[in-house]
Amino acid sequence: MARQVCLIRGDGTGPELVAAVETIFRAANIDIDWVEVEAGLKCVEAGKPIVPDETIAKIKEVGVGLKAPMTTPIGKGSVSPNVTLRKKLDLYACVRPVRSLPGVKTPFDDLDMVIFRENTEDLYAQIEYMVTDHVAQSIKLISDFGSERIARAAFEYARKHDRKKVVAVHKANIMKIADGLFLRVCQRVAQDYPEIEFWDNIVDNQCMQLVTRWKIYDVLVMPNLYGDIVSDLAAGMMGGLGVAPGANYGTNCALFEAVHGSAPKYTGMNKVNPTALLLSATLMLDHLDMHEKRVAIEGALESTLARGIKTYDLGGDATTSGFAEAVASELKA
Ligand code: NAD
Repeated sequence: MARQVCLIRGDGTGPELVAAVETIFRAANIDIDWVEVEAGLKCVEAGKPIVPDETIAKIKEVGVGLKAPMTTPIGKGSVSPNVTLRKKLDLYACVRPVRSLPGVKTPFDDLDMVIFRENTEDLYAQIEYMVTDHVAQSIKLISDFGSERIARAAFEYARKHDRKKVVAVHKANIMKIADGLFLRVCQRVAQDYPEIEFWDNIVDNQCMQLVTRWKIYDVLVMPNLYGDIVSDLAAGMMGGLGVAPGANYGTNCALFEAVHGSAPKYTGMNKVNPTALLLSATLMLDHLDMHEKRVAIEGALESTLARGIKTYDLGGDATTSGFAEAVASELKA
């Protein structure tokens, strides 16, 4: 029986990107029963919550979802559909693999690392208020529990994928209590994985080292805010937002999504790069134990890029659907 997977088509360029992934999945004969669920701007425009309760319930029931980017409505009181999903599904581990792709020229050759970003705490706990009319305060929330589960996720991933090093990234020299706790927990968890080399870096130094000594890094684990920033830095190193995939894992479900947003200015132009969403979908195939399909699709994607077929962001002139057709043809070849 086909495996069920929830699908959110997203806003802006999201539906075009999903169509591209569908073209490629069909060519790869992937047996998935897509369960469409609603979220995002379309829901708000229809007078519903940005992420309806039925959507949360269905993703919890099915356990796996693929999500195209969604637009966060602008204005007071608007909540991000992405943050809402991560919180309501308790998707605590945001995982972003960063690797060089053939045909995508960057100053950073042989990139191969994985970033683990804690997804529920830190300044994203959204505990903030005005202390006076002119002073605002935002609370940085770091817990032993939250730090332990992201650190363990990073080490377990390293063990499972035969990766040799885990580096904890923090600013414990300044935020001695909050980041100090994160670091201490990482050090404690590291003791359970003696075969994996462990050290820590202060986040500013880490950013500098990523662009000067990227080859020594393997798995990086960090609190939410640093993870948000460092993973976009790494997306740039990989070739830009058009190629950077991501996954969010919780205890009971997983949601796969590109790093980028809905790129609304390109809506309906058949222009944006489907690679990031496609690579997120192949991470999902791994999660579903469809490893051979993942390898086949990634091989076809890499051949397509190596042949010089690229969308505008990588200096090419392929359309979204044209690029997807080219990858599909490689799969059928
Ligand atoms: P964005 O990532 O949508 O786009 C920024 C720029 O990056 C685009 O203008 C485009 O030049 C480029 N880009 C993005 N995706 C691309 C692709 N697939 N191919 C080629 N180029 C691509 O960021 P933004 O403009 O700041 O945000 C737009 C909306 O998306 C906002 O409402 C924001 O809240 C939302 N957003 C959603 C997610 C998500 O769903 N996970 C993530 C980030 C932003």
